[in-house]
Amino acid sequence: MNTILHVDLNSYFATVEQQQNPKLRGKPVGIVKDIGRACIIAASKEAKKQGIKTGSSVFDARYLCPSLVLVKADFDKYLHYTKRFYRLVRSFTPEVHLFSLDEAFLNATDSLSIYGSAENLAGKIQERIAKEMGSWVTASIGIAKNYMLSKLAGEYAPKGGYYRIRDRDLDRILATCKPRDICGIGPRIAEKLSNTGISNLLQIRALPASLMKQRFGPFWGPELQRIACGNDSHLLSLLDGNSEMKGVGRTITGVRLCDSEAEIRTTIRNLTEEATSKIREMDMAGRHLAVFLEGEEQIWYRHRTLGYYVRHPDEVFGLLYNGFYKSWRRAFPVIRFGVRIDQLKPMRELSSCWLPSWKRRERVWQAVDKLNQKYGLFSVRSGALLKAKLIRPEVTGYLGDKIYQFRE
Ligand SMILES: [Mg+2]
Repeated sequence: MNTILHVDLNSYFATVEQQQNPKLRGKPVGIVKDIGRACIIAASKEAKKQGIKTGSSVFDARYLCPSLVLVKADFDKYLHYTKRFYRLVRSFTPEVHLFSLDEAFLNATDSLSIYGSAENLAGKIQERIAKEMGSWVTASIGIAKNYMLSKLAGEYAPKGGYYRIRDRDLDRILATCKPRDICGIGPRIAEKLSNTGISNLLQIRALPASLMKQRFGPFWGPELQRIACGNDSHLLSLLDGNSEMKGVGRTITGVRLCDSEAEIRTTIRNLTEEATSKIREMDMAGRHLAVFLEGEEQIWYRHRTLGYYVRHPDEVFGLLYNGFYKSWRRAFPVIRFGVRIDQLKPMRELSSCWLPSWKRRERVWQAVDKLNQKYGLFSVRSGALLKAKLIRPEVTGYLGDKIYQFRE
């Protein structure tokens, strides 16, 4: 049986700030992208105790906790700490999957004999985190036989401690955890579950596969059944396969709801140019495209697998915007935007019979890339973005493109 550890640094951004500035320790801290922005992107453990969450508005947070200290996010600093974290966990076992800036999965199956037990290993990791990342930094560690359960176990671990889900505890945990506690189950699926009268995951085991498929579709039907049996979810089982990056994504949360058609268009274009430039820098191309928009109460998502590979902004934008977005008529005001390009393959593995028009575009974008590498991304950009207020690359919470950012 495998032994997986999920290591999650507690209240990451806020803890890093408190580690560096002892005056902030013990105080409720809210991290904002910019002073004056309306949304808290991370809260310290003291702030969480007062009910402040990631995504709370500054207005509500101040109401709940008048002594809240706002700190402007410093993503370079967080990335620096993450690199330290990554090196640290990798010194315990080579099989590490960094899952976000503050989370890593360790497959300790083969290295367990060195540490005696998974609990011992967890204790050693905690010690090293305190020693090398700072005394204020703590992590919760979940231990289980697969990725999904180890992440779930982390939810039960105390800060600075660990929790193990053993086979004998499995049914009890699945019967009591909320579906949303499972990595990958988002609000849409959770709502569908509750509308179907399913309040706990264990109930799913009793339902026939055909019914699950009919209600949740060809992907989520079987996926929920796997999860209900305590097996790894499809998403997380991908970690064990080819660890080469599967996709590049870019999301942005606006400062206010946007209902300007022109602004939605340029935002999708902007994110597309960033994502495609990353793909070209990695010398890859992708064939699964997705775009997603989130409003106050609605989420719209569309994706498609193409029969060919793409890596130029024009063709990706053409599909995402003109193909997906424009053919959909129920627009709503948007606060969060995302684009993704998945199923990436290195160019060297792709056939070389590209059309002349593709080759022309490739030459143009290679010239653009050269200039942008020298003068910074978007120094040269498409006409559609000339007048736009640019969204620049930043480190995001979920490292879909982790290898791109973490190569040495
Ligand atoms: Mg965390």
